[in-house]
Amino acid sequence: MNEDIKTKGQAYLMNTFNRGAICMVEGQGSYLKDADGKQYLDFLAGIAVNALGHNHPKVTAAIAEQAAKLVHCSNFYWIEPQVQLAEKLITNSVLDKVFFGNSGAEANEGAIKLARKYGREVHGEGCYEIITADNSFHGRTLATLTATGQKQFHKDYDPFLEGFHYVPFNDFEALAAKVTEKTCAILLEPIQGEGGVYVGDQAYLQQVRALCDEKDILLIFDEVQTGMGRTGKLFAYEGYGVEPDVMTLAKALGNGVPIGALLAKDAVASHFKPGDHGSTFGGNPLVCAAAFATIQAIEDENILTNVNEMGNYFEGKLVAFKEKYDFILDVRGKGLLLGMELAMKGADIVAKCLEKGVIINCTHDTVLRFLPPLNVTSAEIDKAVAVMDEVFQTIEA
Ligand SMILES: *Cc1c(COP(=O)(O)O)cnc(C)c1O
Repeated sequence: MNEDIKTKGQAYLMNTFNRGAICMVEGQGSYLKDADGKQYLDFLAGIAVNALGHNHPKVTAAIAEQAAKLVHCSNFYWIEPQVQLAEKLITNSVLDKVFFGNSGAEANEGAIKLARKYGREVHGEGCYEIITADNSFHGRTLATLTATGQKQFHKDYDPFLEGFHYVPFNDFEALAAKVTEKTCAILLEPIQGEGGVYVGDQAYLQQVRALCDEKDILLIFDEVQTGMGRTGKLFAYEGYGVEPDVMTLAKALGNGVPIGALLAKDAVASHFKPGDHGSTFGGNPLVCAAAFATIQAIEDENILTNVNEMGNYFEGKLVAFKEKYDFILDVRGKGLLLGMELAMKGADIVAKCLEKGVIINCTHDTVLRFLPPLNVTSAEIDKAVAVMDEVFQTIEA
């Protein structure tokens, strides 16, 4: 029962999440089931993690098969699933080498370390500063928290790392003004997910790329949320025609198993030598087999086509809501990373949708965020939209 599990959880778990009253026990496709047997249409997908929905047969089979063969060894040996996954990522991106970790924060930690080493070795001792954007989100470790341009996450955890500067997103002049000889990298999300679904402008990202080229500064794209097809391309940078020097991935990479990746061009990656960076679990056989099966399924099942079609379809429905309800101020996003800015806080709408069996999310207090599985159907979108319409009608703006 939901209630029993919640009571025990409150007794034993640190109180870091607003979990509500529900315990999910099973998932199938776009649906989750709780411990009391109630079904939910999942338009959050584990915060952009379950890209192929729950219990995807090919991913489940890959996990079971690999578990029976070899779950873990160490990175003192070559690991075949890790090599296969690396080949898949590299042949499908503009990056040349990859390092595997266990989460988005760890991938970004690796990117920060690599950028500092590159800065020092190429430009000299004082070149270690990294510029990030206001409203960004890069993780919860101390370095990635420092990189995260949101005061609310910094509270109570200082002192932070030195050498980070923040600039308004999509404002090239402000960014250019912060660049000095100490700058080794610019770290940006092509679309700010946690920060409220703010889409990077193409002209802005192109100008940033040109500035980085001119000054030999690394452009790091944090594609932890935007990667793996979420925006309609395998990686969001493809939609901008802007190549990063370094890219980080996690969330959807393993469709639910914990895996993160740091990718870089050869000229950057070559600054990491044996002993410079590492991870005990990173790239272990189990998670790499799951991630390989995930990418294989994204390819085999024409997932990117579905993201583009369903993204347009869903966005059209959300724009129609904006015409209908005054409290909806904006609809934005790309592919199946969509946001709806409200004139008030969104928690009440999220709770009412959950009550009616549809899981959506609210980020940055006032932005409803929609992250359905990438293989979502139009019938599932219709169902979510119908429930949202019912809920919106009960809202007093
Ligand atoms: C979720 C997220 C992270 C952090 O990933 P974890 O796996 O929670 O450490 C970093 N960057 C972005 C853009 C994210 O959306």
